[in-house]
Formats: sequence, C-alpha cells, structure tokens
Amino acid sequence: MKLSKKVSLVDVPAFLTRTVNPPLTESSPITLEFETAVLEALAECLWLDVMKDVKAIPMWLSSVGFPYRRHNGSLAFVSTDADQVIKRLPKEGEVECFLCDAFVQLSKMRDHVSMHVLAARFGLRDKNGGVPMPANRQYCGFCGREGTCVVTLKASRNVLIPVSQDCPYYYKFAMKVAEKTTKSGPSTNRPITCPLCTDSTRCSGNIDSSHVVWTYNLPKHLAEKHLKASEDHITDILKQYEVIENELVNLGLQKPKSKQCAEGEKRQREDGSSTDLSHSKWAKGQ
Ligand SMILES: [Zn+2]
Ligand SMILES: [Zn+2]
Ligand SMILES: [Zn+2]
Repeated sequence: MKLSKKVSLVDVPAFLTRTVNPPLTESSPITLEFETAVLEALAECLWLDVMKDVKAIPMWLSSVGFPYRRHNGSLAFVSTDADQVIKRLPKEGEVECFLCDAFVQLSKMRDHVSMHVLAARFGLRDKNGGVPMPANRQYCGFCGREGTCVVTLKASRNVLIPVSQDCPYYYKFAMKVAEKTTKSGPSTNRPITCPLCTDSTRCSGNIDSSHVVWTYNLPKHLAEKHLKASEDHITDILKQYEVIENELVNLGLQKPKSKQCAEGEKRQREDGSSTDLSHSKWAKGQ
C-alpha cells in the first residue's frame, strides 16, 4: 500500500518564531527529538512571548493530523491559554458589542442590540448576561449606545434608506424587510420619521435627522416631544409600531407560545397553579 502525505504550507511571520536546539534522533530518519514535557513547556513559553501579537498567528483548520493528539484523543502541545484567547477573537466581519463582550457580525448587530434593549424593557432574561438599559432612554439601534449617533433617512429610488455618518456599526438595510419580524431578521427596530414631527424637508430628498426616531424609541420620543397630542393619536401611532410577542420569540427572549403552554400546563399539573400568559404591557409596546 502506498501512503501519500498531504503537505500543507502555512506562512508564519518570522517574529512569531523562536530558535530551539534539541538533540537529534540517533537512528534514521534523523530528526529533531523533543520530550513530551519539553514540547508542552515550549508551547506555554512561546504563547507568553507572542500573545501580544495574537492576531498575527495564522489560523488553520484542525484535521486528523493537526494539531497532534495524545493517545486518548486530547490535543497535545497546545497552550490552553492561547486556545481560549484565540477562540474569543472576532471572526472576519465581526465587531464587538458596546453593551456586552460578544462579537457579532456587523449586519446582525442591530438584532443583537435589540435583544439587549427589549430584554431590559420587558424584564426578560438577556442571553448575554443582562445590560443596564433604563427604559426612559433613547438608544441607537445600530450600536446600542445613547446620545452618540445621528441616524437619518435618505430617499433613494422611492424608498427610504437609513444613513449615519457617525455610528461605527451603521450598515445599510432594507427598511421594508425590517417591518416584519422573522427568524432570520428578528428585529423590527428601524428609523422612521416621527408622524407628529413637522416633516417639511421630505421633498428635498434628505430628512431632518431630528424628526427621525428608532421605532423602539418611539414611546419615549412621543412622551417627551408631543405632550399636547391627543391620547388617541398617540395610542394609534404606538399600536402601529408595537413590539409583538413574536419578535421576542425570534430574538430568543421568549419561548414560542406552544412551548410556553406545554410547560405551563405541565407546571399546572405539577403544582396545581395556573399560568397567566397574557402580557398586557407588550400590547402597549413599552
Ligand atoms: Zn451585546
Ligand atoms: Zn450608533
Ligand atoms: Zn416627533
């Protein structure tokens, strides 16, 4: 049987390499000889030396022959610290959330931030540990920060597109698609022109950014800026942009109703209590 060796070439910057001087094997094939403990110590020492340049370390997919494994299948000569640090590094296209330590694809950051905002608003369990986000503030839908970013809308080929010069996590998304919550695009948080703000500049193509409000911030904006508007009018507007329960399910903040029912019934059977599934504050969208 002829065995063919698959050769892989990996470019490693010279500043990540160190010279070693181990003994050679006594019989053929002549090669460098390391004791297991020495190789393990080298992996740890080398990591301490190159950790400041972690981003320059080339990444390679693991395979049957790489990295080396012990007879029990566990990885050999791998620095545990390095492994953990590298696993936490952002992947291509990912950016770090300003509110937690997660790395998220830029085009998914709006959904991620929405998860934080709605978890705080409805008192639900935040998947990333919970972030203090008082409900009476207005947060940028792209990055989740407050008072940092101006977001406006621009008319282009009869559709409005969101625009921001200063939000680092701005990305262009289809407003029409964002109107409905789906599994792949859960958040409906989108910048809209406030129906009650004067919108005299609309015909010129650009919209006054002070009239642009993220839908999640609408309750706060209306309460602050439109005190004189009739209650019915405010209720109508809020109804139009309310956060429905499905959005919480798609954002992973709430279990689907069928599962809730099953669990509720199970609990009811177990302890004889009933579970109230009506969440009146959802209906109000605040
Ligand atoms: Zn986060
Ligand atoms: Zn922002
Ligand atoms: Zn307004």
